[in-house]
Formats: sequence, structure tokens, C-alpha cells
Amino acid sequence: MLDPHGRLRERGGLERQQVLAAGDRTTHEAGALEHANVLADRIQRDRECGGDVGHTRVALPLLRSLQVSATFFLSGRVLHGLGPYWWVTLEHLIAERGLTEVCQTLGVAASSPVELAARCEGTSLVNRIVGMAQSQDVQPAAAEIRALIDGGMSIGFHTVRHLVLPTLSPEALGDELVRGRVELATAAGRPVALLAYPHGRAATREARAAREAGYHAAFTGGGHPITVQTDRFLLDRWEPGALGIDDFVAAVALRLNRPAGAR
Ligand SMILES: [Zn+2]
Repeated sequence: MLDPHGRLRERGGLERQQVLAAGDRTTHEAGALEHANVLADRIQRDRECGGDVGHTRVALPLLRSLQVSATFFLSGRVLHGLGPYWWVTLEHLIAERGLTEVCQTLGVAASSPVELAARCEGTSLVNRIVGMAQSQDVQPAAAEIRALIDGGMSIGFHTVRHLVLPTLSPEALGDELVRGRVELATAAGRPVALLAYPHGRAATREARAAREAGYHAAFTGGGHPITVQTDRFLLDRWEPGALGIDDFVAAVALRLNRPAGAR
């Protein structure tokens, strides 16, 4: 996945993407949050951020076949007439046209999608990429969200603009936590009570703001197991990347057993 959450991970060409699917008890019942938080499986072309049709085409059928209930953290950008985040568009472009052609179009030399994304981030190339988004096959967001709900999934919020919340003023922070949330809830047909902080970035101030904004729980990106002591508004998520089954099991075991505080 072209992952702007602090780690650009690579998996031999365009990466598969993953949905971090918190088990439904951990997400729906605050009292059950002590359980390990993340179920991640190898689901191609799906992710938390993009409002991608892969949510319903790939992830939803797979999750249902496994009888797993997941929470999809969405921006709801399409509900506001906004395209996907730029890195989602870039990923689509690479999938459609190939890395070489996209590099040529952008005038950037890169040997991998991750390298290309890194070279684009923070530059005006981002605007060019956003402008190239028209060819994407995006079904109506509201219909996709309803399909997820009807399929037994739940919807969380990931903010519309994906800003780094700890860098914002208190007023801007409060605004980011509510801007677009009502629209997403309307599309989902139910309240949106879970939040995943953009970039996984949050500390005590953001946790307090999320609580005050009426969320029931919120997720950061640290990747640590959740215990009974964990702040409900600073729950870690883990993005394991492209792992085979054995490596995945080993990585889970390592995370569950390493000393608290170890990184
Ligand atoms: Zn994100």
C-alpha cells in the first residue's frame, strides 16, 4: 500500500492493501476492548482511507465469507464532491498504467511505487495526481457505505482532510473531528462513533477532543496490543503489511508477548 501513515511499505510492485478489521466486539462494546484489537487479512485493493470500491468488491465478500465483522474507517470525501486522497489516486494510476508510464507522466524517476509516492509527497506533483483522478471507477459512495452496513460491517470516521491532528490549533482540531461526520453518518444510516486518527497521530489532547466530540473510541497507529489499561481514545492499530500466514502469526505472537512499552 502507498501508506502515508509514517511508513511507506513495499511489497514487490504495487502492494496489496489491507483493511484493519477490528473484531466487532472490540469496536462495538467498550467493555470488551481488552481483547487484541486487530484482525488483518490479506485483502487486495482495499484500505481505510480511500473510499475505494475494493471495500465492497473485495473486502466485504471476503470478510463475510470468514464471518468477520469489521469497521471501515472512511473519509466520506466523495460525499463532499472530493476525490480520493492523492496517494489512492496514485495507486490507481499505477495499477492502470504501470509504474513506468506514471513516472514518465509525472517526470519523476522512481524504481517502485513507494519511492514514487515519497518523491511526490509535499510537492506540487500531488495536485497533478489529484487532477488525473477522473478515470477512476468509483461507485456512488453512499451506496457503497450502505452496502457495507447491510453486509454487517460498521463505519468509522477518518476525517475528510486527513490532516496531522497534533499540529492543529484547538479550534481546528475540534473542527476536523466533526467536519463531514454528519454526512457520513447520514450515508451510513447510523451514528459514527469510532474514529481513526489520520496518520495514526494522536496524543492526550487529541484523545480528549475525540471524547468531547462524542466518539466512543478512537484509534492511533502505534501497533501495540490493547489491554484493559488502554485509553479507549488511544487504541493502537497495526498494519502488518504483506505477510505470509506463518510470518503473520509470528508477528502477532511477538506483539502480544513483548514487554509493554517496547517498540
Ligand atoms: Zn489514513
